[in-house]
Amino acid sequence: MRDDSYRHKGLRRKLVDSLRKKGITDERVLAAMEAVPRHFFLDSAFADLAYEDKALPIDREQTISQPYTVAFQTQLLNVLKRDRILEIGTGSGYQAAILSKIEARVFTVERQEALYHKAQKLLAELGFSNVRCYYRDGTKGMREFAPYDKIIVTAGALEVPKILLDQLKIGGIMVIPVGTRSQKMLRITKLADDEFQEEDFGDFRFVPFVGGVENDK
Ligand code: SAH
Repeated sequence: MRDDSYRHKGLRRKLVDSLRKKGITDERVLAAMEAVPRHFFLDSAFADLAYEDKALPIDREQTISQPYTVAFQTQLLNVLKRDRILEIGTGSGYQAAILSKIEARVFTVERQEALYHKAQKLLAELGFSNVRCYYRDGTKGMREFAPYDKIIVTAGALEVPKILLDQLKIGGIMVIPVGTRSQKMLRITKLADDEFQEEDFGDFRFVPFVGGVENDK
């Protein structure tokens, strides 16, 4: 049984207040973060830390991003109702749940089979029916559901993959952290087939964006 108690709700409210103080202004993002129980997406050993503004370990040496980072990336995406969004790096499923709460249609891909299974099951149990999970190598994007209004990459890439830009609608936005040791948060707007506007929103740290898939063995 998953329990979302008054205490959890209170901690979430405080977390959201702290995100406001750190400069998050998009009310849809803040409301989604207040509504989604982050502790459901963590192993019980870390559940007590769920409402601190910290990245935490999940399985397979991956991390659930820091709440501020989730809020910041989501705000940069300017999510609109019914947007078709590709997320690369499902991880725990938390970021996908936030996008789903803003009523986007979410396609999320994960290269680690174990994480894919766990997130898919959890998101279904929690009723996030507008999220579809896939076990894929996200360096190739996901052509069959393209083009997307928005693409969000939640692992640190060495460069901007051209293939992802191809899968973006004209007028669409991609948010992607790019760099080696730390990553610059880039927002790329597709102005025309071969015309892009790039904005840099400063340094963040992510687990690496790696090609290929890994299975459970
Ligand atoms: N959005 C996640 C953050 C997970 S960390 C959350 O809310 O919890 C980044 C994830 O990206 C990891 O799970 C990692 O396995 C995955 N990843 C890295 N490279 C990938 C690729 N090429 N395709 C799909 N997923 C990838």
